[in-house]
Amino acid sequence: MSNEENKTTVQSNFIRDIIDKDLGTNKHEGRVHTRFPPEPNGYLHIGHAKSICLNFGIAKDYNGMCNLRFDDTNPSKEEVEYVDSIKEDIKWLGFDWEDREYYASDYFDQLYEYAVKLIKKGKAYIDSSSFDEIKTMRGTPTEPGKNSPYRERPINESLELFEKMKNGEFEDGKYVLRAKIDMSSPNMNMRDPIMYRIRHANHHRTGDKWCIYPMYDWAHGQSDSIEGITHSLCTLEFENHRPLYDWFIRELEIFAPQQIEFARLNLSYTIMSKRKLLLLVQKGIVDGWNDPRMPTLSAIRRRGYTPESIRNFAESVGVAKRDNVIDISVMEYSVREHLNKTAQRVMAVLNPLKVVITNYPEDQVEELEAVNNPEDETMGKRKVPFSKELFIERDDFMEDPPRKFFRLSPGNEVRLRYAYIIKCEEVIKDDDGNVIELRCTYDHETKSGTGSSNRKVKGTLHWVSATHCFNAEVRLYDRLFNVPDPGGDKEVDFLDHLNPDSLKVLENCKMEPYISSAEKGDKFQFERLGYFCVDTKYTTDEKLVFNRTVTLRDTWAKIEKQMSQN
Ligand code: ATP
Ligand code: MG
Repeated sequence: MSNEENKTTVQSNFIRDIIDKDLGTNKHEGRVHTRFPPEPNGYLHIGHAKSICLNFGIAKDYNGMCNLRFDDTNPSKEEVEYVDSIKEDIKWLGFDWEDREYYASDYFDQLYEYAVKLIKKGKAYIDSSSFDEIKTMRGTPTEPGKNSPYRERPINESLELFEKMKNGEFEDGKYVLRAKIDMSSPNMNMRDPIMYRIRHANHHRTGDKWCIYPMYDWAHGQSDSIEGITHSLCTLEFENHRPLYDWFIRELEIFAPQQIEFARLNLSYTIMSKRKLLLLVQKGIVDGWNDPRMPTLSAIRRRGYTPESIRNFAESVGVAKRDNVIDISVMEYSVREHLNKTAQRVMAVLNPLKVVITNYPEDQVEELEAVNNPEDETMGKRKVPFSKELFIERDDFMEDPPRKFFRLSPGNEVRLRYAYIIKCEEVIKDDDGNVIELRCTYDHETKSGTGSSNRKVKGTLHWVSATHCFNAEVRLYDRLFNVPDPGGDKEVDFLDHLNPDSLKVLENCKMEPYISSAEKGDKFQFERLGYFCVDTKYTTDEKLVFNRTVTLRDTWAKIEKQMSQN
């Protein structure tokens, strides 16, 4: 692949406007420090890519820094496998957190001290109510909550109980630590939220050291503060958590990061909930987190997307303040555009039909010159062998063609790419009437690039020489779901909307010899068919397996247009 630097053109957006203004007033002494804070409970998906590009992109453009922080407050759900995959995906996207790999669990001691500080100030208390009781006392968005009977517990008693909680003297659920804010606040997040609960569970980093764990809302803002994050970018659902985060910071009198919310990336025909993606993996509906039909970054990489195309996509959809859904064709467009410039062209026949050129000498082989990439001269040319027996695409022949079929049919002529004009003279069928071979003649005056004949025909087909080609497997992917919003309607099980034709495996595809040296991950344009890459999972020394990354055109737009015309 030619080494294209990131050519993303950066658009301004409301977040950059805020940062520009902050730099103007020298807030944070001109520092710009962001972070990407994944919870290690699943693989990253294309939505995370947007957040990564935004956070690391802003840090880069403002000569700032971006931390990677694992939000690992939840002991039972997190796994090392996820941590490793997250790091790999961020690197693949082209970003670097340098030595700033942090974990919320690194701050458990500090968070404990902060909590003690709030208790001492009379701003937090130990509640003996059960989770259910706390839930009932919380009220509803239209009704105020009720104060817990333990709300006025003396400070000393709370301090003592909190320490005993930490020391493992109580079973799960016996007590919680709550912030003492306002049970009648219209913002439910301010109604004495839980800060700590007892969980006798092993943590992937702190082991058995802790049996109390901080709630996400208690850990997140303080972690940002500890790291000196200036601009804490997060998705819209945290907008009404901001008053709580600001309250904690104010009461603790510690460094105050500024939280700015932006809209999540939603893609049509796709689900992004990690819980639902995990279900697809666990039920075996897909072949692991990196099944090329998944919206995860590992899947998208395996499918043949380039990091450049994802970065361009993330930039092109912009940063919005209101939720919206981006059509998946926008993402496909961006990879098509990048691969058009960088992918090697080759010829491969997915559904082969044999063609015998009856007037071509039996043992002759011509090495014809083919262009590797018309968009990039530096990629040069290659030789493609032409001989008496060829394969063309089965779809490129019709015995009774409709009027505007410009491909091959009896008595009709087409050009073979980089080669000659051929004419179909005879159709050979098996006993069941299936076409199994075409007998054609070639016009040797029409060799491509020689200028010996300027005769033109309407159709040009790709082909391979039957004696020189080799077999490979090609996997065609389509959308995993057949409705635009599979995750949207909560009442309906998203598994009811699986597209039964999302994977098609073609076993005996014919490849031109040049492709035989391809290695895992290599990307090609199969002429007239689309972009394909060598699969990293199923390719072996004996067999190349290809994934179709994307078709050459937006085929769904065509189908939808046809449907609306009918
Ligand atoms: P889920 O709810 O499925 O578990 P999450 O949003 O909680 O996903 P995190 O690991 O917490 O996943 O996300 C890490 C960061 O990525 C957060 O800052 C989050 O806001 C951001 N993010 C997650 N999904 C999207 C999305 N679809 N678009 C933009 N940013 C996202
Ligand atoms: Mg989250």
